[in-house]
Amino acid sequence: MNGRLFRSSLTAGRSGIKARHHRPIRGKRLLPAKLCRVAARHPTPGSQTSLREANRARVIDSLKRHGHLTQVELAGATGLSPATVSNIVKELSTSGVLATSTTSRSGRRAVEVTLARRPGLVAGMHFSSRHLRVAVADVDRTIVAENHVPLALDHRHDRELDRATLLLADMCESLDAELSDLLAVGMAVPAPIDVRTGMVSTPGLLRGWEGVPVAEALSERVQLPVFVDSEANLGGLAEARSGAARGAAGAVYLHVGHTISAALLVGGTPFPGVSGKAGQIGHVTIDENGPICRCGSRGCLDTLAGGPALLELFRDDPGMQRVRDLLLRAESGDASARRVIADAGRHIGIAAASLTNLIDPDLIVVGGELATAGEILLSPMRHALDRSALAGADGVPDIVQGALGERAELHGCLALAVDSVDVGLGVLTP
Ligand SMILES: [Zn+2]
Repeated sequence: MNGRLFRSSLTAGRSGIKARHHRPIRGKRLLPAKLCRVAARHPTPGSQTSLREANRARVIDSLKRHGHLTQVELAGATGLSPATVSNIVKELSTSGVLATSTTSRSGRRAVEVTLARRPGLVAGMHFSSRHLRVAVADVDRTIVAENHVPLALDHRHDRELDRATLLLADMCESLDAELSDLLAVGMAVPAPIDVRTGMVSTPGLLRGWEGVPVAEALSERVQLPVFVDSEANLGGLAEARSGAARGAAGAVYLHVGHTISAALLVGGTPFPGVSGKAGQIGHVTIDENGPICRCGSRGCLDTLAGGPALLELFRDDPGMQRVRDLLLRAESGDASARRVIADAGRHIGIAAASLTNLIDPDLIVVGGELATAGEILLSPMRHALDRSALAGADGVPDIVQGALGERAELHGCLALAVDSVDVGLGVLTP
């Protein structure tokens, strides 16, 4: 099949809100016919029509980001006047793009606006180190089917992509749909993705996936547009859209599980760096004489606080095979398990302090499997941050648990897929 590999880039829109755009980086662009038609109908920039479409796009984009908003909130989110928002909502409701309902805010009657349920579906696939989670959702990001299966350590991409494709096809069938009914797939992998090549940025970080154009490899199997990013960036994106980082001007999302990585969220959008490697906090050196890391360095945070390092401390215990086993043991009050998680929290806190001194966030959100340990992990993190981060007028950034739990990354996959689809624009009149 012709290449259908896409990469993402960051741009700041007129509203000042950073938006994620995607473009094909090689091969023939194969988009659904409806979307191609939309691209062909773009009016001349600067014309009245262009301004009207840009305003409509801002309204639709805000609803894609937030799911549902009142008209007053829409005006705030888009920077458009309430009268303009009201006109656009009326117009798009008539044409079936938006749906409105009556609600109340602070005891007052308000009109709530959402994207109208449309026949299109999107899929999300989160390949974590040990799990594959797959979801199918409406374009308003309501999940209609979800499944997850365990993955072997150091799984190979070809086998697992085949398996993921079969699983997704089965899920579509259970919805009385076909793979071809999906508009796009958003995909998360446990490694940084080089936005220039679509491959894993650094050798050693994801064995079995090296030299593989990740989105293209899945796209060839599912015959759909596929968009890919790291699990940290997509977990962070979801927490910024509808979780604990919502509204934060600058936040860090820490994915703490089998591996440790971060998303640097600027205005709600992950900052990828030049080659997608921004936020690789798992490879910050904590002990330069420490164990050799899979990246080739020594004493990285991952070698002290990543899942395998924690489990290695219980190597003679056959009941301790996965991070989940450690969490259950800690929850049951086992002092060793709690101490191991607390020590991991201290190490992560030291690395988070360095990151805080470099990028000055207002909030640190902790997600990933180990974050479900709650205060056992977070309290030592806060202590280490207090000791090592430069305090501003408001002290050091808050450290909070993610609001979306272990499914944040999957929600981020769906958001990435929805972002890539011109929801609603296909029925707009010029
Ligand atoms: Zn490393």
